[in-house]
Amino acid sequence: MKNPFHVMLIPTLGCPANCEYCWSSDTNSPVMPIETVKEIVEWLKDFRKDDRVTFTFHGGEPLLAGEEFYRKALPLLSEGLNHLNPEFAIQTNLWLMTPEMAKILAEYRVPVGSSIDGPEEINDLQRGKGYYRKTLEGYKTAIENGLSVRFICTFTNQSAKRKEDIFEFFYENGLVMKLHPALPSLRGSDPDKWALPPEEYGELLVYLLDMSLEHLDDMEIMNISDLCRSVFTRRGNVCTFADCMGTTFAIGPDGAVYPCYRFVGMPEYAMGNVHDRPTMKELSESAAWKLMHDFKDYVDSACSECRHIRYCRGGCPYNAIVPCGGKVAGVDPHCPAYKRIYDEITDRMDNEMFSSPPPGMSHFGGMNGDKEIPGVMSLIRKIVMNQ
Ligand code: SF4
Ligand code: SF4
Repeated sequence: MKNPFHVMLIPTLGCPANCEYCWSSDTNSPVMPIETVKEIVEWLKDFRKDDRVTFTFHGGEPLLAGEEFYRKALPLLSEGLNHLNPEFAIQTNLWLMTPEMAKILAEYRVPVGSSIDGPEEINDLQRGKGYYRKTLEGYKTAIENGLSVRFICTFTNQSAKRKEDIFEFFYENGLVMKLHPALPSLRGSDPDKWALPPEEYGELLVYLLDMSLEHLDDMEIMNISDLCRSVFTRRGNVCTFADCMGTTFAIGPDGAVYPCYRFVGMPEYAMGNVHDRPTMKELSESAAWKLMHDFKDYVDSACSECRHIRYCRGGCPYNAIVPCGGKVAGVDPHCPAYKRIYDEITDRMDNEMFSSPPPGMSHFGGMNGDKEIPGVMSLIRKIVMNQ
């Protein structure tokens, strides 16, 4: 979380792709009119006066809103809310990236997050034939026109079996890796077809921790850096591991305000609408707000004995609430994965501090004799020095 206040703008839930495991697109979704952006500016002018804000354009596929939308929306938000020092980001599959669109985004220094799940055959198996080629074409256009692009890699229960090939793909192409576990899809008849089981997710994170250490100087895996930073500072620094309620909002194409983009399109989770200029107090009286805070209270009690509670915070409330039919009945189902990786990082840190090799180094045996690879403390040192 770069800034203390994060507003996700969802110009549409429509998307030209058809990823097998997607849970957030809607082919009939309208596109946000520019008048709604003007309403957002008016609403936020007095909503929070003293915080910096990051706007992330998300979807669906946000580039479906078109060049004209961004040509108008970016100056409206930037100038109308300059007291909040707005920063921007966009999450897109890049299929609709044009040189003109890239130039508009580059003018406002909008970093681009995109998605690719590894080599073409793995990616297209789960995201659809032709996805890889279209995304790489958009990537080329984005880079040539001054944008920076990072990729999120979604691991499914199928692709996790090919984790070595996927890591190699990111490494060979010099890409920073950010990963995302496939969630159960609430749209199809077989919600778990692609979902990554928590235990496998935990093992995947440990594998990627090892890869991060082995490639300390020439590769970054963002989730691993975030997890290590969390343990070291005892504070979650991405939304999944911090109490996100009240610091993150999402606004749907019709101006409805939700706790997060993941809830957009489910009217039962709308907390208000920007056209009504709701105050924080009015939002806090909505059922969705109360549910999010019930989750926080639930975590305080259910996770009270867990040594990682301070920087885990029960994981993502969406993951916990929505699959349970809108009830707070448990923590994020990825809990075993979080425990696995947090235990691993904590234990390695403790061992490194009290063992004989120089701090930050650990011994690893191998076919060719003992080889030293950096330890977790080396990664933490690198993270702290790069801040
Ligand atoms: S609901 Fe989940 S994904 Fe959304 S902001 Fe909160 S932690 Fe992040
Ligand atoms: S690891 Fe599990 S038990 Fe521990 S705080 Fe996170 S969700 Fe709760």
